[in-house]
Amino acid sequence: MAFLIAKPKTEAEKIRKDIRVLADLTAVYCRAKHRDREKSGPHPRGEVTAYASELNVQLCRECTKLVLHGAVKRIHCPMDPKPECKYCPEHCYNPRYREQVREVMRFAWRHMLKRGRFDLVIKHM
Ligand SMILES: [Zn+2]
Repeated sequence: MAFLIAKPKTEAEKIRKDIRVLADLTAVYCRAKHRDREKSGPHPRGEVTAYASELNVQLCRECTKLVLHGAVKRIHCPMDPKPECKYCPEHCYNPRYREQVREVMRFAWRHMLKRGRFDLVIKHM
């Protein structure tokens, strides 16, 4: 019966998923709030390059910086097991980005629920 038990995700897969969720939710936010801004795909550098496929979104400059900051922080998260960021005893985001990411998350979840995008909500849970 061992085959019925899902293998625990590897650390790399968890990082990949978290970065994708961050990028997707920020894209939802950016599309709605920064409609008039010029957007492009983020150009990850350094260690974030390995996660380029999770960053297949169009973002304005400000949102791009947030996502790349979040990706670096996620890659370096020393917590094991990692708590949800909002419950973490050590907030590692730069305070400016921390406030921004909270607003992005709040808005994006609400926005998807309001629009009945339960498919996206479930995908991210
Ligand atoms: Zn934006």
